[in-house]
Amino acid sequence: MLIATTFSLGIATQLAVNTPAFAKTKSAKVIKINKAPFKAYRAKKGYIYSNAKLTKRIHNAKNYPKTTLYSQKEAIIKKSNGKQAVYYYVMSKNRKVQGYIWHRYLTPVPIKDNIASSETSTNQPISQKALVNLINKAPDMDPTESIRSLKPIDYIANETIFDLGYNVFRFSPSSMFKSHQATVYVASGKLASLAQAAMTKWNNVLGSQVFKLGTAKAHTLAIRLGNGTKDGWDGLYDGKGIYIDHTHFNNLNYPIAYMSENLGSQTSYQQYWTGVIAHELGHTLGLDHTGYQADLMYAPNSDGNFITKYLWKRPIERSSTGLDGTEMGTITQRDLNRARLTRVLGYW
Ligand SMILES: [Zn+2]
Repeated sequence: MLIATTFSLGIATQLAVNTPAFAKTKSAKVIKINKAPFKAYRAKKGYIYSNAKLTKRIHNAKNYPKTTLYSQKEAIIKKSNGKQAVYYYVMSKNRKVQGYIWHRYLTPVPIKDNIASSETSTNQPISQKALVNLINKAPDMDPTESIRSLKPIDYIANETIFDLGYNVFRFSPSSMFKSHQATVYVASGKLASLAQAAMTKWNNVLGSQVFKLGTAKAHTLAIRLGNGTKDGWDGLYDGKGIYIDHTHFNNLNYPIAYMSENLGSQTSYQQYWTGVIAHELGHTLGLDHTGYQADLMYAPNSDGNFITKYLWKRPIERSSTGLDGTEMGTITQRDLNRARLTRVLGYW
C-alpha cells in the first residue's frame, strides 16, 4: 500500500502566520520528547522556538503577557553550552503563538481564569482539572457519552482541551455546514457513485443527512480530482474542498496490485476509494487522524497531524484484518463518537 491520505497543507500554511524574523541560534541536542499533561500557563518573558533544537526563535513571550498558553509536550534538551534543560511545547487557543519555551518562564494559570467573574456558579464551565480527569478516565481517543453530555458552556470554555484530547479541530468554515448539513458538489462524473456511497456512510451512522448532493452553482463543499502523486496523497482536504488523486484513481488496479495478496483480497477498488472520500469527509467534520488502524481516520504515523494528543510512529492498535481504515471503508465507533463530539463543539 502506498500512501493513505494526508491532511491539509493549506490550513497548516495559513495558520503559520506572522512569524517575525529572529536570528538563528546555536543548535541544542534533543534528548527526549515526552507527552505533557494539559495545563494552562502564562509567560511574561523568554523566547519561543519553532523546534526543540532551539535553532529558530519565532516569538518573544513578553509580547503576549495575557495570552493563555496550553502545554502539549515537553522536550528534554542539552543546550549548546552543555547544560540540560526542560522546554515545554505550548500553544495559544487561536494557535497564533506556539512553540517551545523554557519551562521556568511559564506560570500556571488558575483554573477559573477562563470564565467571566460575573457568571453564577451553575453557569460556570467544568474546571480544566475536572475535565482532564474525565478525559483521562474515558477510553483513549474515544469521546464516549460522559464526554459528550456536558453543558454547552463546557465546550465553549474548553475547546482547546477537547481538541488536544481527541485530535479534533475546527477545520471547516462555518459556512460549509448550514444547520449541520453540507451541500456537496461532485465535480467529476467518475467520482459520483463513490462520493455518494461515502456520504451515505456518514449519514447512516450519524442518523441525519449531514452530506447532501448539490450542484456546480449551489454547494458548500466540492469533491474534485486533483494531482496528489507528487506530494504523496490519494485524498486531500484543504479547508475548502476535497481532492482525489487522479493518477491513482484512474488506475483500476490501485490499490490492490500494490498490496499483499492476503490484504488485497479483503478490499476492492470501490471499497478503497469510498473509504478515502469518507476519510476526507471526516476531516471536514473536524476529525484529525488517530493511530488506531481500524479507524476510518487512521494514519500510520502522527507526522501529518495538525493537532495530536501524543505522537505515534506505528499503529497504536492493529486492525483485526490487517487493513487500514480507508481500505476497509468502515466508520468505527471511535470515528463516530469523535464526529458526535465535533458536532457538540460546533465544528459542523
Ligand atoms: Zn487524512
